[in-house]
Amino acid sequence: MAATSDYLERITRAQVHMQELGIDLMLVTPSADLRYLIGYNAIPLERITALVISPHNEPFLVVPRLEVSTATASPFGNFGWAVIGWAENDNPYDIIRDVSGFTTGRVAVDNHMWAERVLKIQKYFPLAQIELATPIIGAIRITKTPTELDFLREAAAAIDRVHAQVPDLLKVGRTEEEVGRDISELILAEGHVRVDFVIVASGPNGASPHHELSNRVIIAGDPVVVDIGGTMPSGYCSDCTRTYSMGDPGSEYLERYKILQRAQVLSTKAIHHGAISYTIDAAGRNELSKNDLAQYFIHRTGHGIGLETHEEPYIGENNETIIENNMVFSIEPGFYIEGVHGARIEDIVICTPDGPESINKQSRDLVIIEI
Ligand code: ZN
Ligand code: ZN
Repeated sequence: MAATSDYLERITRAQVHMQELGIDLMLVTPSADLRYLIGYNAIPLERITALVISPHNEPFLVVPRLEVSTATASPFGNFGWAVIGWAENDNPYDIIRDVSGFTTGRVAVDNHMWAERVLKIQKYFPLAQIELATPIIGAIRITKTPTELDFLREAAAAIDRVHAQVPDLLKVGRTEEEVGRDISELILAEGHVRVDFVIVASGPNGASPHHELSNRVIIAGDPVVVDIGGTMPSGYCSDCTRTYSMGDPGSEYLERYKILQRAQVLSTKAIHHGAISYTIDAAGRNELSKNDLAQYFIHRTGHGIGLETHEEPYIGENNETIIENNMVFSIEPGFYIEGVHGARIEDIVICTPDGPESINKQSRDLVIIEI
């Protein structure tokens, strides 16, 4: 959890952005944005909870009456701002209007807000112009503070410890599901509070980047793509891919893997303050195209990570985001050859003034499992 001063600074920065952009009101419902701004990890339920921020007034939190004590126990309870409980027969939108004084102007909503709520805002604030809060909150979340960087390093170390144990789980004759179940247990045992995803893609299944665990039995010679991640108690996420091989995968695969490994290094090395997202993508993609592998690299190079596994900045072919120090994102090129096999190497990397810092430390070599 961040310190109270961190949260207050985030709110102040949000209010400054609102002033700059001319936004009159911002409503943030349970989401990573809410957790980021006030530390309240509320569960999205049918009764609305909303953080209400105006550019010049004190923010307040509107919550169902039965959740007032939970909300007050969150870091928001230490800020000295109002937590307003609404009763079953209250209209929470009336409360938002009465307390904020907002009736007309521009209202920004978090980008994960339920459509049902957006439509109600439209109904109860007919003169308001609704837009996304992404330019306000996203602009703050995209670069990480030293505390957040440490949380992400902790998450990376935890998932690295899981990858270190994957070779013990991979055995010819086991199914992807069996291996996946064991990996899920390890993700929790190594310090995560939640398993976010477990991809174990063996043999031809490796050609599907987001393969779901199946009952396919792992056989000798299979490459196995293992992409795993979870959420730590801090709320920050891990995400790391390594590729394993059940014995010798054959010379063609080994050659392709080497090229992929070079591409992953080249994209990582292209990271620096001021680099444009697409140049980082191109550094690896060009290496793959020299070897006719780019046609099999069917996704972008990476995504930002923080309180969500996928967030800004994205690293892709047409993305013009300018990378700054303390941005954190994945570098995860791969190749996916339908019906044959696939591979991916993924690290989370911090852009630092001293260059790129890969926070996943496990070897990026193909891990050959003795069979
Ligand atoms: Zn990823
Ligand atoms: Zn991943």
